Amino acid sequence: MVIIMKIYNTLSKKKEEFEPHEPGKVSMYVCGPTVYNLIHIGNARPMIIFDTVRRYMEYKGWQVNFVSNFTDVDDKIIKKAQEEGVEPSVISERYIEECKKDMSALNVKPATVHPKATEEIGGMLDMIRTLLEKGHAYVAGDGTVYFKTRSFREYGKLSHKNLDDLQGGNRSLLVSGEDQKEDPLDFVLWKPKKDGEPYWESPWCEGRPGWHIECSVMSKKYLGDEIDIHAGGEDLIFPHHENEIAQSEAANEKTFARYWMHNGFLNIDHKKMSKSTGNFFTVRDIGEKYDLQVLRFFMLSAHYRSPLNFSEELMEAAKNGYERIVTSVSNLNYLLEKAGGDMLRAEEEKCVEEAKGFVTKFEKAMEDDFNTADAVSAIFELVKLANTNVSEESSAALIKALKENILMLSDICGLLVEKEDEMLDDEIERLIEERQEARKAKNFARADEIRNMLSERGILLEDTREGVKWKRA
Ligand code: AMP
Ligand code: ZN
Repeated sequence: MVIIMKIYNTLSKKKEEFEPHEPGKVSMYVCGPTVYNLIHIGNARPMIIFDTVRRYMEYKGWQVNFVSNFTDVDDKIIKKAQEEGVEPSVISERYIEECKKDMSALNVKPATVHPKATEEIGGMLDMIRTLLEKGHAYVAGDGTVYFKTRSFREYGKLSHKNLDDLQGGNRSLLVSGEDQKEDPLDFVLWKPKKDGEPYWESPWCEGRPGWHIECSVMSKKYLGDEIDIHAGGEDLIFPHHENEIAQSEAANEKTFARYWMHNGFLNIDHKKMSKSTGNFFTVRDIGEKYDLQVLRFFMLSAHYRSPLNFSEELMEAAKNGYERIVTSVSNLNYLLEKAGGDMLRAEEEKCVEEAKGFVTKFEKAMEDDFNTADAVSAIFELVKLANTNVSEESSAALIKALKENILMLSDICGLLVEKEDEMLDDEIERLIEERQEARKAKNFARADEIRNMLSERGILLEDTREGVKWKRA
């Protein structure tokens, strides 16, 4: 059965059929965090969601070129650096490393490229130059370069805002220090340095870029002028993404991104979790109490566009749900150690057919704008099927088929459900044999590697006169 993938596009406010522009290849850009602190679990929501989108697309056989930036020049980074009496790069490098550790603990795959704003200044200067040449920007007296918002006719098309409403309704657009703007709607592309701030040379003044220009430039450099998907949290729709569209489309004269995906907020007490208001939990905080796979499961249990309220009860429910899958896999592994029979028995074929039905159900849910809540319930149905149909009498073929399906769907969700200490006896023995062969061939590096790998997984080796013995730590 051919399933047509649908994605809700913020641009059209509709679910649309999705096909990559270039067959088999998806280009995707996700706005990443500003690195001045440990990430909170609100920041983790887009990471988990769009990693799952990527994993599903890879499962479909598409090659996903996935770019996600680190904003490493920003007022908050500079402030923190001044408080600690260090260079801003010390702060940003520290928190990029910490963020990568959190991503790995959440089983979020590294992006194809993780560009940093400070390493892309040349491209930003080029784009600003183009915008000036094309009449979409101007230089104010102090060297600030502004984007001339009204020069981009389609401004407002993503956030569905009308320019005149914006002008009348939002006086705060004209903030202090920006009184050289020709129009309150204009926004900064480049601004002069202040004392003690990092800066770069430019034709207009020594200074640094505005925030929005970095994503337009990095997306162009790593993915080209026209990309398939641009994504981030819904707080970025306006002004960040609206401004990115204006800059990119005015400069490149091409459609910037065909699909715009935005995740809803992660809330606490129904208010957006954010660093600035102080109502947040870091990923580290949650990791002290729960396996972070539970957090990932929790995020996937709701639709990505809906708000999701964080609570102890929901985390406990997520823990139970996640553990239900882990226990089932563990049980299948246990039975598999004893089972024989590489062929399905006649009466088992029906069960494998049923399992395939749940895989289709999972795919349908994912292809309906990534309805992960329904996709997860398809995994539960598979688990239930396995729990009720597999026993000590089952063939190894049946147990393997069910286990493989559960692992495959969990892996698309980025959920690690096979615990490492669940390594099977014969898998351990095969590795021990390989280690013996490596030693015979004097490949001690490989032999040590195998020993370390087993030790990391809690398997201890002992070289005795009678051969190698092993035990679980
Ligand atoms: P920031 O570091 O604030 O620029 O945010 C990095 C990413 O996290 C962006 O895609 C934001 O939209 C997203 N984000 C920040 N706070 C939340 C939240 N409470 N819920 C969901 N996404 C969020
Ligand atoms: Zn961005």
